[in-house]
Amino acid sequence: MAYDVDLFVIGGGSGGVRAARVAAEHGARVAIAEEDRWGGTCVVRGCVPKKLMVYAAEVARSLDDARGQGWAIGPATFDWPTFLAAKDKEIARLSDAYAGRLQKAGVRVIDGRAELLGDHRVRHRGTGEVITAGHILVATGGRPIVPTHGEWITSDEAFRLERLPEQVGIYGAGYIGVEFAHIFAGFGVKVTLIRRSQVLRGFDEDLRAEVEAGLVARGVTLTAEVGAFGVPAPGVLSMAAIGREPATTGMGLDEAGVLRNAKGEIPVDEWSRTNVDHIYAVGDVTGRVALTPVAIREGHAVADTLFGGKPTPIHHHLIPTAVFSQPAAAAVGLTEHGARESGHDITVFRAKFRPMRYALSGRDERVMIKMIVDRTNDKVIGLHMVGPDAPEIIQTAAVAMTMGATKADFDRTFALHPTTAEELVLLK
Ligand code: FAD
Ligand code: NDP
Repeated sequence: MAYDVDLFVIGGGSGGVRAARVAAEHGARVAIAEEDRWGGTCVVRGCVPKKLMVYAAEVARSLDDARGQGWAIGPATFDWPTFLAAKDKEIARLSDAYAGRLQKAGVRVIDGRAELLGDHRVRHRGTGEVITAGHILVATGGRPIVPTHGEWITSDEAFRLERLPEQVGIYGAGYIGVEFAHIFAGFGVKVTLIRRSQVLRGFDEDLRAEVEAGLVARGVTLTAEVGAFGVPAPGVLSMAAIGREPATTGMGLDEAGVLRNAKGEIPVDEWSRTNVDHIYAVGDVTGRVALTPVAIREGHAVADTLFGGKPTPIHHHLIPTAVFSQPAAAAVGLTEHGARESGHDITVFRAKFRPMRYALSGRDERVMIKMIVDRTNDKVIGLHMVGPDAPEIIQTAAVAMTMGATKADFDRTFALHPTTAEELVLLK
C-alpha cells in the first residue's frame, strides 16, 4: 500500500523533533504534529527556562561572594518581570528555530493535535485531515502529576508566575522540587520543601547528604510534615513536584491496539518498537529514562534504524545526570549502594574539600567527589559529585567512563592545576 508519508511523528519535543529531522535527512517523507509549542517540554517548560532561572538565581550567591573579594556592591534588587520577558524572548527564539530546522530538512510541520485511528492512519484533530503513514512514532512526552485536592501550581505555572510569592511550599523532593527550592530561595522567596521519603531518593547517599546540606545552607526549610499537603497556609504558594505522567490519553492508542502499562506508559523493546509492528515510541512517554538527551538519542536511533540502513538498538547505560541545585550535583554510573546490591566487589574513593573559589569570600561550602571502582578489573563504575561546575565536570568524566576507563587511567592523567576537577585524578 502507498502511504502519504513514510513516517508520522506525534509530538514536537526532544525525541520527536530529532527523529523527524534525521528521518527526512535519510530521505524519508516525514510529517510531524505538535499541539502546543515546538521544542516540547525541555525547550518551553523544562530544562532551558529552568537553567535560565538557575543562572539568574545564582547571581545572589555571586554577589555575596564578590563582597569578600573586595567588590563594593550597593543593595541589589531582582526584577521578576524583566527576567520573565527576557526568558520568554529566548524561548520563543529557540522554539521558532526548532520548527525552522524541521522545515529546512523537508519535514511537513503540522500545528495541532494528532490522534491515531488504527490501520496506519493519523488524524489532525483540528482540521480532520487524515494522513496515512508507513510508520508512526509516538513522542508525546508527559505532564506534571497534580494532586487531586487543594490548589497547586506545578513547574508549568512556575515558569510564568505574574509575581514572585513571599513564601512557597514545594511538595516533592526530587529533581524539580530541589531545583525550584534553590531557584525561589535565590530570588529571596521563603521556601519549605516537603519530602515524602528522602531528598533525591535513588541518588548516592553522600551526594544526597551534600544536597540536603546545601538546601539548609540556602535557608530552605526541609520537612517531612506531609500534613501540610493540600492545606496551604494563607499567603503561601503551593507547588506540587511529585513526578510526571505520560501523555497517552485521548489520542487513539487503544483504537490502534497499542498497549500501555498501569502507569499509562508505552512499553517498547530495544528498537523503541511497541507491540504494534509499525508503531514506535520514544522519550518520556515510554517511562524509560526521562531526560532530554535520552529522548533525543532514542529518536535518532529510530530514524537510523528505519530509514538510515543503520539498525541502532538503545541501551540505557552510563547516562550522566545533574540536579541544578546550589551547589550543583551530578552523577554517572552506579551508586555505592547500587554497586554493592548488584554484586560488585568495590573500592570507594572520597574527597571533600573547600574549593579555592570560596577562599576569600568565606563561604562555608565543600566540594564532594566520590568514585566507585570495581576491584576485579579496576574500572570506574560510578562517579558522584557536588560542587560548583559538577555537571560540566561529570559530563567530561562520562566520556572516559564510556570508554571503559580504569582508576589507573585516571591516576596517570596529569592534573590541571589549580582546578576543582583535578581532584578526580588525585583520589587516594
Ligand atoms: P516532550 O519534550 O514533552 O515533547 C512532547 C511533545 O508532544 C509536547 O510538545 C506536547 O505538546 C506534544 N504532544 C503531546 N500529545 C500530542 C498530540 N496528541 N498531538 C500533537 N502533539 C502532542 N531533562 C534533562 O535532561 N535536563 C534537565 O535539566 C531537565 N530539566 C527539566 C525541568 C523540568 C521542569 C521538567 C518538567 C523536565 C526537565 N527535564 C530535563 C526532562 C525533559 O524535559 C524531558 O525528558 C524531555 O523533554 C522529554 O522529551 P520528549 O520528546 O519525550 O517529550
Ligand atoms: P521525581 O521523580 O524526580 O521526584 C518526585 C518526588 O515526588 C519524589 O521526592 C517523590 O518522593 C515525591 N512523590 C512522588 N509521588 C508522591 C506522592 N504521591 N505523594 C508525595 N510525594 C510523592 O519527579 P520530578 O517531578 O521532580 O521530575 C520528573 C522527572 O523529570 C525527573 O524524574 C527527571 O527524569 C526529569 N527532570 C530532570 C531534571 C534534570 O535533569 N536536571 C530536572 C527536572 C526534571 P519519593 O522519593 O518518596 O518517591
